[in-house]
Amino acid sequence: MNFVKIIARKRDGLELSAAEIREFVQGASNGHLGDEQLAAMLMAICIRGATAVETQELVEAMRDSGARWRLGEVFPEAVDKHSTGGVGDTVSLVFAPLVASCGVPVVMMAGAGLGHTQGTLDKLAAIPGFRPALSRSQATEILAACGACFAAQSDEIAPADKKLYLIRDVTGTVPSLPLIVASIMSKKLAVGARRLVLDIKSGSGAFFKTPQAAQGLANSLLEVARRAGVEVRALITDMSQPLGDRLGCATEVRAALEVLAGRGDRRLRELTVELAVNALVLAGRTPEAARAELDGKLSDGRALAAYEAIVRAHGGDPDEARLARPRAALHVAAPRAGFVSAVDGEALGWIAVALGAGRRRLGDDVDLAAGVTLHARIGDRVSEGQPLLTLELGDRDVDAGEIRAQAAAAVTIADEARKPAPLVVARLGGSA
Ligand code: URA
Repeated sequence: MNFVKIIARKRDGLELSAAEIREFVQGASNGHLGDEQLAAMLMAICIRGATAVETQELVEAMRDSGARWRLGEVFPEAVDKHSTGGVGDTVSLVFAPLVASCGVPVVMMAGAGLGHTQGTLDKLAAIPGFRPALSRSQATEILAACGACFAAQSDEIAPADKKLYLIRDVTGTVPSLPLIVASIMSKKLAVGARRLVLDIKSGSGAFFKTPQAAQGLANSLLEVARRAGVEVRALITDMSQPLGDRLGCATEVRAALEVLAGRGDRRLRELTVELAVNALVLAGRTPEAARAELDGKLSDGRALAAYEAIVRAHGGDPDEARLARPRAALHVAAPRAGFVSAVDGEALGWIAVALGAGRRRLGDDVDLAAGVTLHARIGDRVSEGQPLLTLELGDRDVDAGEIRAQAAAAVTIADEARKPAPLVVARLGGSA
């Protein structure tokens, strides 16, 4: 088949056949299609969308682009968790050890940064020596040894997502329902946990900005999971401002360690516990028992101990002192007194990328030390000159004046206090 014709068909809004979708996916995973053709097809899908049938075909073709690990057959209780992407979203780093410390195995097929969001794999790369499991035998060994394992797309598993993910990251083709559903569900189904908790983000820092759009994404994810026989719980959650108070790699690992030690950012802790409750409910606990158990593990040090064991099993050093530190900081102060009424999550995400915590071109290195810290959230009262944000600089050169101005513009201060949105916007699929 001439692939140019297939791109043109999607460009013109026509429905692709299963064979055409498989040609695209195989060409991505075996290298027969060039990056320019993949990028053109991704943009055509991003603009034109895809039917439910095309989306399902895309999921299955991407799932089948590599091995299927079927880990649910070996660990029937295992649960996977995935977020549709946001900023300050450090949940995975806390969720995996926390749920594992309750005796429920977690197999987490994670992703790197995508667009303005920072990804779990990049955060894990900030831990010296950490290697995500790339083969089934590594994943099985780590899971058996310490109850949780982080895996990544590789030449063995989900190779099509590995390739398309990298291209989407730098071509403005992330916010597309079919591409997000196919990316998430193909790798989840390839790993094969039978239980899944989905965190579907809605708001300024998410790829879908309104609860209605997030609901559409949720419906599609739930439909694919249902067809595959995966038991799923899904929450639509607030991303109208960053979830936690930090964006970046090393800095988010520190944020996770604080929560695991029973302290840390309240919103990050609260949402992680909400999602973890759903994981434990899938494993047969009542919501009340699950909540009490999770609170106990966070306060008695066992969640933190599980984190250390998981990191060591992946070859990493859990010592917080070994995480990268910024070489300098820029401070952004409140220009006036008032109440924080909006924090533009996407704008802050792009600022973190500009500082080095994400890629702007294929093959860019991520600066593990770069990041952003928020000192005020929606609803907080601030006085003039009070610190709003700290921009942490790594090795990338930035125009300090320009980036500081962009950061200041991301926070709106008003005269009237505004209540922040609830963390959980909706509970779907029988979620607790
Ligand atoms: N997470 C993924 O793995 N893929 C997406 O497209 C979005 C979030």
